[in-house]
Amino acid sequence: MTQWIYEPDWAIRNFGDLVKSRLPSGAIFIRDDDGRVLTHVDYWSLSGRIAGALMDCGAKRGDRVAVQAEKSVECLALFLACARLGAVLVPLNTAYTDSELDYFLGDAEPAVIVCAPERQTGISGLASKHRCAVVLTLDGNSEGSLASEMRAPPAQFADAAPDWADLAAILYTSGTTGRSKGAMLTHANLASNALTLAEVWRFTHRDVLIHALPIYHTHGLFTAVNTILLSGGSMLFRKKFDAGEVISLLPQATAMMGVPTYYTRLLRHQGFTREVVKHMRLFISGSAPLLEETHRRFREKTGHAIIERYGMTETGRNTSNPYDGERIASTVGLPLPGISLRVTNPKSGARLVDGEAGMIEVKGPNVFTGYWRKPELTGTEFRADGYFITGDLGQIDDKGYVTIVGRARDLVITGGLNVYPKEVESELEALEGVSEAAVIGLPHKDFGEAVTAIVVPDAGASIDEAEVIAGLKLRLANYKLPKRVIVAGCLPRNAMGKVLKNRLRETHAGLYDGN
Ligand code: AMP
Repeated sequence: MTQWIYEPDWAIRNFGDLVKSRLPSGAIFIRDDDGRVLTHVDYWSLSGRIAGALMDCGAKRGDRVAVQAEKSVECLALFLACARLGAVLVPLNTAYTDSELDYFLGDAEPAVIVCAPERQTGISGLASKHRCAVVLTLDGNSEGSLASEMRAPPAQFADAAPDWADLAAILYTSGTTGRSKGAMLTHANLASNALTLAEVWRFTHRDVLIHALPIYHTHGLFTAVNTILLSGGSMLFRKKFDAGEVISLLPQATAMMGVPTYYTRLLRHQGFTREVVKHMRLFISGSAPLLEETHRRFREKTGHAIIERYGMTETGRNTSNPYDGERIASTVGLPLPGISLRVTNPKSGARLVDGEAGMIEVKGPNVFTGYWRKPELTGTEFRADGYFITGDLGQIDDKGYVTIVGRARDLVITGGLNVYPKEVESELEALEGVSEAAVIGLPHKDFGEAVTAIVVPDAGASIDEAEVIAGLKLRLANYKLPKRVIVAGCLPRNAMGKVLKNRLRETHAGLYDGN
């Protein structure tokens, strides 16, 4: 039986205190792919040493600490280090190019940037441009100048005692206007969501979670890690998802969290059998729609009904199919305890009756406090009574189950990652010979959706698909690149001049059939 080494009567004022109050003595927290094993207590002291190193570099309460580094235990522990220091973690997708980072660093103005050694030169230039004094490095083997700072005689580090309402992280999410927005998440947002999820999904110290998600995104960074951190369980921490490797880990694990692509890849692998999942109690999917067919085939093959849940960067998780009750395919389940969800008329905001599709709005302790340095935008995304307008369209059935029917903002989700068409369109339109462009998501068996561009050439110009994609490569992260570029004479538009993306999606619906 696990012993809790700190009694819960300890005054809990922030996320770090909460973790400390639940530290199980001796219990393992992480086993990584290099064979490194850390207990919860080891992880706590590692986060303290990182916090000390950040403090020595000048980071203090309220400062941002940006990180763009390969997945590793140290990279993950930066979050807890920042939480204990009262600093604000800004995780950045490892695929972002220097030209994309220019915007994020200029907006977040971090006091410290932690980056991969091979990115140091480019990022140092951006750091001086944005008056960020310190750039530290961290590679996938936990080496770099961050590690050297930690090896230096440690500064006296006492937890800085931030409050529940203090910011713990800013996670960038994109906007249809093409510019990313920083979602401000407090200690209370993250703690409440993790405690709720640990309870509804019944996580305990006996659980072993397969963690193959990226840690620059809310799913891998918070949903997966914090539920385990607060329930005393452990993780098999893998740099990336590889179906064969995950299959070899399943017999040691009890739970897995993934994006739908992981489940379709497992199903396609010959080694994925009922036998290898005998020890598992739970499979959870989210960040993009799980096809009904995937849910059915998974159940037939393994006997497990995948729990589909719904959330977003700004809110953490909002709904989940139940642990005990019926897990209904192609629904995202019921609102989580303590979280209110309603469906409204997107224009008027009037509440709709059950069964009618409209805008999903949510309210609860999980909901972020607003967009970083964008008070006006924040104002328009919340209703006067505090509900956040998610931008997702959905409906609630008579049993209370929520179904997502579409994305109001035409977001493309490819392999669980968001691509905002506007951003890719702007880059396409900047290419020579391109008059205009529309970017849509089309159904793709592996990625869920594939980024697809429809481009109209300038009069007299000719466009080559491979050249267009090569032209975007220096400007955009790989996952945002169109899988196909279709050349067209014009784009279909409505009377107001808006491109009819629905029509484009219908016309090209079967483009990736057979992929
Ligand atoms: P992110 O902020 O990257 O987590 O993306 C959030 C968006 O992903 C949501 O606003 C939804 O549009 C979508 N999403 C998340 N989970 C699901 C799901 N289970 N089914 C359908 N869409 C989802």
